[in-house]
Amino acid sequence: MPRKNLIKNVKRIVVKVGSSSVTARGVISGKKIAAIVSDISELANRGYQVVLVTSGAISAGAGSMKREVLNLTIPEKQAYAAVGQTILMNEYRSKFGKKGLPVGQILLTEDDVKNRQRFLNARHTLETLIGLGIVPIVNENDSVAVNEIKFGDNDMLSAHVASLINADLLILLSDIDGFYMDLADPAPVEEIYHITDAIIARAGGTGSTCGTGGMMSKIRAAEIIIRFGEKMVIANAKTENVLIRIMNGEKIGTIFVGENRQLTGKKRWLALRKPGGVIILDEGAVTAVRVGKKSLLATGITGLTGSFSMGDIVEIAGKDGNRIGKGIVNYGSLELQKIKGKRSSEIKKILGENIYDEVINRDDLIVY
Ligand code: GLU
Repeated sequence: MPRKNLIKNVKRIVVKVGSSSVTARGVISGKKIAAIVSDISELANRGYQVVLVTSGAISAGAGSMKREVLNLTIPEKQAYAAVGQTILMNEYRSKFGKKGLPVGQILLTEDDVKNRQRFLNARHTLETLIGLGIVPIVNENDSVAVNEIKFGDNDMLSAHVASLINADLLILLSDIDGFYMDLADPAPVEEIYHITDAIIARAGGTGSTCGTGGMMSKIRAAEIIIRFGEKMVIANAKTENVLIRIMNGEKIGTIFVGENRQLTGKKRWLALRKPGGVIILDEGAVTAVRVGKKSLLATGITGLTGSFSMGDIVEIAGKDGNRIGKGIVNYGSLELQKIKGKRSSEIKKILGENIYDEVINRDDLIVY
């Protein structure tokens, strides 16, 4: 399909630049950053709303103190991220300033978007920055993030940011031209509509020496983007005026095209959360939830695994174990063990008066 058609309704764009796209020989590259800033400013002039997700803090910080990223311990990486983040922002602030665009820094960890309240706070801040004509510049808060609360790489972070602000397009710029099904191919795959097992197998193992991403994390990001019905482009930051040319509709890099299914804000947040357990449904409940678009009641539950509390996120599955959806549960696993398979009147007898009719309310439920 012509690229122009695929991107014609795009208004809001998240651009992610990898460490190798903002550094040269281990130190920050004013030239590379100037090229990215120049393209983003032009897109802003054309009326696009752009959020920038940038890597490079650890690289720039280590490089400024003559250290190689590959040999650093985790505490050293966190320390050099603190150093490099200010170097990065200085560079962006001065380059965007020359184009008359103010910038604002947002540092996130996965913890900040797991909790729905904090997810909404982050969204409000980003929306306000965009509304004020300020370019939000996002990175992972590497200096304080430990493994348990990390996105891990900025490809994943940028997919979350795109979902947070309902972006129409995510552009991942790095040192590769796109996704190749076979490295002997002369050009990358032009369009991808589904992430197949073959794509995942092909993506495994490829990586750059500079950032943490690699092709696998880009494909994981694409999975999220496709699920939300959005689009994503993988392209090479070295291509001249790459962002402008992508938005002009040139066939550059690989475009991933999402299904036409738009989830609402709360359901998007839900789709990105990791479940704490699985609830098994009988056939009637599977049909009620899937076809009837009903809430989940205790009477249709035959079993559960995992230990979870009220308000946690759980997956739901048929008796064959196939996962069919995910939702916020109104009962903890201990209570649910007691009331599974029971009707509301029986639940009252077991748990007392103050009970929820639904184990998962329809508004808190997504079906895959
Ligand atoms: N947040 C890291 C940094 O700024 C980069 C993570 C990545 O390479 O994906 O250095």
